[in-house]
Amino acid sequence: MFENAERTELSTLGEFGLIDHLTKNFTLRNNTIAGVGDDAAVIKTSNGKCTLISTDMLLEGVHFDLSYFPLKHLGYKAITVNLSDMYAMNAKPNQVTVSIAMSSRFSLEAVEEIYQGIQLACDKYEVDLVGGDTSTSKQGLVISVTVVGEATENEIVYRKGAQVNDLVVVTGDLGGAYCGFQMLEREKRVYIDNPSVQPDLAGYDYILERQLKPEARKDIIEIFKNLTIHPTSMIDVSDGLASECFHLAKNSELGITLYEDKIPIDPTTYNFARELDLDPTLCALSGGEDYELLFTINQSDFEKLSTHPDFSIIGYVTDKSAGMNLITKGGNKHTLQAQGWAAF
Ligand code: ADP
Ligand code: MG
Repeated sequence: MFENAERTELSTLGEFGLIDHLTKNFTLRNNTIAGVGDDAAVIKTSNGKCTLISTDMLLEGVHFDLSYFPLKHLGYKAITVNLSDMYAMNAKPNQVTVSIAMSSRFSLEAVEEIYQGIQLACDKYEVDLVGGDTSTSKQGLVISVTVVGEATENEIVYRKGAQVNDLVVVTGDLGGAYCGFQMLEREKRVYIDNPSVQPDLAGYDYILERQLKPEARKDIIEIFKNLTIHPTSMIDVSDGLASECFHLAKNSELGITLYEDKIPIDPTTYNFARELDLDPTLCALSGGEDYELLFTINQSDFEKLSTHPDFSIIGYVTDKSAGMNLITKGGNKHTLQAQGWAAF
């Protein structure tokens, strides 16, 4: 199956190269319409109906730091980040399973807090907790969630499907979750240096909430229905705008040009980034964890969403040879870099 003669470092493949390498020789049977490579897998059931499945894992020390991440928020986030993948397919999530591994350092009360957050998210997004798995762990807390959803075959929107001249649209605003993370890390360092200093988080509620209590854009799927918009391609922004643009472009075999001045950034995000000497645009492009939806639409749908406050038109789709570009505020054209999170 694999013919590697010598040891290869995982870092030479990167996360997406690794997934591709490991899964490319698998055959799809059993009515699977779409397997590895999108926000969720799609399985045809009956009469044009489909079941969708997606899974995501959160690891202590990699995805969250319990020295500042409240357990209730963690439970909530574990659910919403998974639901986000379902909405990114224009599908309705129905069920979740939750698998959890924890060490004896956790008390019953601590696990209860995690489950309070899980329940809050299940109630808000109207999904059913239907199972999972529980294990001890030698080190660190792990939460893995699988979500099952449904949609009709023609409702589903994939990462592929964008056409030349389509508009690139993003919901909400970007870079906030990354700035929230930077803020929490900064306050943690201050606290380690001097435990008597109280964290100074005033005025930054917005970015903290973006990091600690992200919401999934259920509302956007409903707006699409009401405005009769059918995106040509879509993905959720988990790794950063640039990385997600690369996924849409790669899967659609096209290029994308973005306009820096059109990228939506909240003033709190902007000001905090500046305070840390970070480029706010870079926070939006490479920060990740915003869980907004990035999609493309045919220009004929422009009127339907052009005045809607939840949507920003940030660029357009080109042919593949034009590549990936960012037109800066100064009018210069730069090649877009996809940094995202370096998993390995
Ligand atoms: P997302 O950021 O939307 O959660 P990922 O980047 O985690 O998506 O995964 C990309 C695709 O690769 C998805 O279709 C996912 O199901 C698949 N995938 C990720 N890891 C594995 C794995 N170890 N084995 C098989 N498929 C995987
Ligand atoms: Mg996704």
